[in-house]
Amino acid sequence: MDGECIFCKIVSGQASSKKIAETDTLFAFEDINPQAPTHVLIVPKKHIESNLQLTGEDREMVGEAYLLANEIARERGVDKTGFRIVNNTGRNGGQMVAHLHFHLLGGRPMNWPPG
Ligand code: 5GP
Ligand code: ZN
Repeated sequence: MDGECIFCKIVSGQASSKKIAETDTLFAFEDINPQAPTHVLIVPKKHIESNLQLTGEDREMVGEAYLLANEIARERGVDKTGFRIVNNTGRNGGQMVAHLHFHLLGGRPMNWPPG
């Protein structure tokens, strides 16, 4: 737990969020500024700064994050139309919050290449 980290505060309940799902290692909630009809953030409960700080011990958690994304996508019905899972890492990656998170985006066509 990083006392200054907004996502740690959301996981612990110190900050409010619209919770979608929770597992032993993960917490999923609605993005506060949605960029698509479905925009869910999936974060590890443990504070991990970015993709670069992952270690071998996190392998299972990362796999579970992708499986949880599938579950949420099916609940929302975006499995039928497709969706995007995004991890932004560092400055050029567009990472604004220094707590690892996966964006699940769906409900509209996504552009490629990304902006
Ligand atoms: P990043 O740019 O780091 O990949 O994405 C950070 C995401 O977190 C953004 O989509 C932003 O809207 C979302 N976000 C930032 N602060 C909060 C917050 O306090 N609550 C929620 N639910 N989402 C947040
Ligand atoms: Zn954190």
